[in-house]
Amino acid sequence: MNSGLGRVEEWLKIAFSRIGCFESPHKSKTFSKLLLVSILGVSPAFINSFAYAEGVRTHHYQVKINKQLSQAQVKLCFDGEAPEYLAVDYRKATKSLLKFPEASDGHIEFQGRYWKTSFLKDNACIQYTSDISGHIVDPRKTHNKKLSFQVDNTWLWLPEKLSLTEQAVVSFELPGDYQVSTPWRPLDKQYRKFLVGRSPHDWGMTLIIGEFDNHFYKSKDDSILNIVLLGELKQKDNLIEWIRQTERALVDFLGKHPLPMIQVVLIENRRFRKSPVPWGEVNRGGGIGIRFVVDSSQPIDNFYQDWTATHEFSHLLAPKIDYRDSWLSEGLASYLQYLLMAQAGNIPSELAWQKLYEGLMRGAKGTKDVGPEILRDVVENRRKKGSWRSGRTMRIYWSGAAYFLLADWQLRKTSKNKLGLAQVLAKFNQCCVLSGKEWGGKELSEKLDELSKTSIFSELYQEIAYSESFPNIQPALDGLGIKVVADKVVLTEHQGHQYRDSILTPLVNIDN
Ligand SMILES: [Zn+2]
Repeated sequence: MNSGLGRVEEWLKIAFSRIGCFESPHKSKTFSKLLLVSILGVSPAFINSFAYAEGVRTHHYQVKINKQLSQAQVKLCFDGEAPEYLAVDYRKATKSLLKFPEASDGHIEFQGRYWKTSFLKDNACIQYTSDISGHIVDPRKTHNKKLSFQVDNTWLWLPEKLSLTEQAVVSFELPGDYQVSTPWRPLDKQYRKFLVGRSPHDWGMTLIIGEFDNHFYKSKDDSILNIVLLGELKQKDNLIEWIRQTERALVDFLGKHPLPMIQVVLIENRRFRKSPVPWGEVNRGGGIGIRFVVDSSQPIDNFYQDWTATHEFSHLLAPKIDYRDSWLSEGLASYLQYLLMAQAGNIPSELAWQKLYEGLMRGAKGTKDVGPEILRDVVENRRKKGSWRSGRTMRIYWSGAAYFLLADWQLRKTSKNKLGLAQVLAKFNQCCVLSGKEWGGKELSEKLDELSKTSIFSELYQEIAYSESFPNIQPALDGLGIKVVADKVVLTEHQGHQYRDSILTPLVNIDN
C-alpha cells in the first residue's frame, strides 16, 4: 500500500526501512552466488508432509538465547553430507561473531558471510555464538518488556541451497516464558521448533524473540496463523479477530487456506491518525509474514472498513514477481482489496465496485499525468525518479487491477461463468505459489493460461505491459452490468450481472 508516512518512531525506523507496499526488493549481493532455490512446483501439501518424511535429511539447529537477548548460541548438526555453503543475509554478520564457528570434524572455509562447508565430514556439527544485542528494542518503547525485533538476519547461517531431500529445522531454547515468532512452520506444540521454509532468505523476514503477545491458530487442515501483537495495543481481542476475519475472507475467496503458515505482526503507531492501518508489508523470506502498522485507538469498525489488510492478504495469492512486472502483484491486490471486503459482508457490493472504479480512474488520470511511457518502464522510472506525485504509482497499481478485472470478466464470459479468476488462482496456489522462485510477468501469465486452458492472461499481458495508455476497461464494465452515471457506479440487472454476482460469491470452503 501507499500512504504518506512521514517520520516514524525510532524503533519503527529500524524495523521498517521501506515505506509503501512494494514488496521487499532483493538486497544486493557481494558474491555472485544467488540464493535461488531451484525447485519448481512444490505444493503446500508437499511442504506440509515434508517434515521427517522418509529419505529426507534434516539438518538440526539448536539456538540458545540468553535472558538479556544479547547472545545467540548456535549448535548445528548436519544429517549426512553438509550443504556446500551456509549463508547469512547481512554483510556485517561476521563482525557480530563472539565465538567463531568450530567444526567437530573437518574444516570451514570462510568467505565473508558465506561459509563453505563442503569440506566437513558427514554428520559434522558446528558451534558458534553471535552478538544479537543490536536487535533489542528500547524497553521504554515496550513498557519494560524484553523484546528482540529482527528484520535482518544478522546471525543465523542457513544452508544457501537445499536439495529436495534436505531440510533445516531450528529449535529454540529460551529463558523463562520468552516466546518466538518466525514465518517458518512450527513443528511442536510449544512453538519452539520450526521447519525453515525454502524461499530465499534474502527476501526478508521478521523474527521476534522475548516477551510479547504471541498467538497461534491452527485450522482443521493444519494450516497455522500466527498473530503477534507488539507494544501497548488496545482492544487486542478485537484486533486478533479482525486479522482472523481478514484471513477468513481470503480463505473464502480461494476455497482453501492459501499457505501452511502465515505470520502476521501488528505494531502500534498512533501518529498517523487518518487511517487505522497506515501501512502494511509482505515479506517472503523462508515463509510468508505480513507486518501491519495500526492505530489501535480507533474503533474496530474502522479496521473492517479499511482496505489495507485485504490488500496485503491478497498478495499471498501471487508469487514473488520480478520488479518490472510488480504492477501484476500490486494489481491483483488492488483488484481484490474491496471485492474481498464486500464478499465478507463488511461493505455493500455497490460500494466495492464504486471504490474499484474510482481506483481505476485514478490509474487512468495517473497515466495521463505521466505522459507516454510503457507500463514496464513506468515501474523502472518510478524507482529511479521516485515520483510519487507524478501518477506513476497510481498507474502501476490500477493498470494491474484493470488487467485482473479484464481477465476475470473474459474468463467468465468465455466459460459461460464456469470459470473465474478465483478458480485459476486456486489452481495456481496448489501448484506454484510456494515455488520459492521469482516469476517474470510473462511467465506467470503463461502459467495462468495453462491452468485456465485459455490464452486470456498472456494476451492481456502483451497488450498492457507494453502499452503507453491505460487499459480500456469499458468492455468489462459493460459486460458485468456496471453502468457509470456522473462518476457513480450503478449496478444493473442487465446481461452480465450473473458474472458480477459470481465474482463476489465465495468458492466452497474446505475448512470450517
Ligand atoms: Zn501492495
